[in-house]
Amino acid sequence: MASVSFKNVSKKFGEFVAIMDFNLEIRDKEFLVLLGPSGCGKTTTMRMVAGLEEATSGDIYIDADRINGVLPKYRDVAMVFQSYALYPHLTVEQNIGYPLKIRKVPPAESKQRIVEVARRVELDSLLNRLPKELSGGQRQRVALARAIVRTPRVFLMDEPLSNLDAKLRTQMRSELKHLQHELKVTTIYVTHDQIEAMTLADRVAVMNKGVIEQLGTPREIYNDPRTLFVAGFMGSPSMNLIPGEVRDGVFASAGLRVGGLGRVSISRAVLGIRPEDVHAARVDDPDVNLVAPIYSVELTGDSTLVSLRLGAQLVTLRGDKNFAGQIDQRIGVKVAADRVFLFDGETQARVD
Ligand code: ATP
Repeated sequence: MASVSFKNVSKKFGEFVAIMDFNLEIRDKEFLVLLGPSGCGKTTTMRMVAGLEEATSGDIYIDADRINGVLPKYRDVAMVFQSYALYPHLTVEQNIGYPLKIRKVPPAESKQRIVEVARRVELDSLLNRLPKELSGGQRQRVALARAIVRTPRVFLMDEPLSNLDAKLRTQMRSELKHLQHELKVTTIYVTHDQIEAMTLADRVAVMNKGVIEQLGTPREIYNDPRTLFVAGFMGSPSMNLIPGEVRDGVFASAGLRVGGLGRVSISRAVLGIRPEDVHAARVDDPDVNLVAPIYSVELTGDSTLVSLRLGAQLVTLRGDKNFAGQIDQRIGVKVAADRVFLFDGETQARVD
């Protein structure tokens, strides 16, 4: 059993508040992803659990144990850093086996365990190399293997896949997910990559400027974003966020009109609509919400991303892979009204 709780935790660096009144309960065996832009406080949050940084105020618990002030080595957490922090004079095998050595695991058992994790992260042919003889991606995998070679109470992973190429990253992502399922160790995982967050997390905490903007399952965050920030952060390509005005339930911005939004009127509104919920239509279709010129057409393989000019901004739709429109051609657009999100431009909050 290992839950991790933050209770009213704040962290200041001098006058700068990096984490503000942070409350979060990570459940036993949960894969919790901290997601947010650079500088929002993800790493600081992790470092406080690892004991590499002390909270300025508030309490952190692993299960019922308050861990503030407890030395890192007594916390029983394994951390993978963004910078690999390998021992330069030890081989890959010795680096991976280090946590077992200091716990005095018998050599035969240790060897078996090292070979097994090395195979999982595709390092089994490099066990005798030194870190300086490895690529960045290989070093990152050694750091990962060193963390998973034993079963701690909590895994802390800070962008552990950031230096891998796209193919290996996808492969390692699924390996990590499987491993966590198998080992059932509570995991806190930091990333600014929302695809990683979506695919790995049981729950995601979306962070912004030292606070949690929203906490929920990937599906909840994606389908029910509560703020403009969360709406813009989750989804690739990101949600169209179009400033405009709502009068009696009709949103208007440049040539775009979307009705059926209830009885609301908001003078500074933002309409959010995902590219997959915007559809190309004929210009003369009576139900179009917009007629606009094409700005760009990008084939992604299984679909086509089409951007249209709307006043000073672009609106993107995800079209069929056989989409045939050309730049500057005017096309009609239909918006799925039941898939629209409305935000108050002043408070940045969702309007239901
Ligand atoms: P990234 O994705 O870039 O790693 P992050 O979300 O992990 O970012 P943190 O490293 O937690 O962000 O940093 C949060 C804020 O605290 C940043 O503004 C950073 O500049 C500041 N900060 C972090 N460590 C220190 C420190 N030792 N002294 C002063 N400020 C710091």
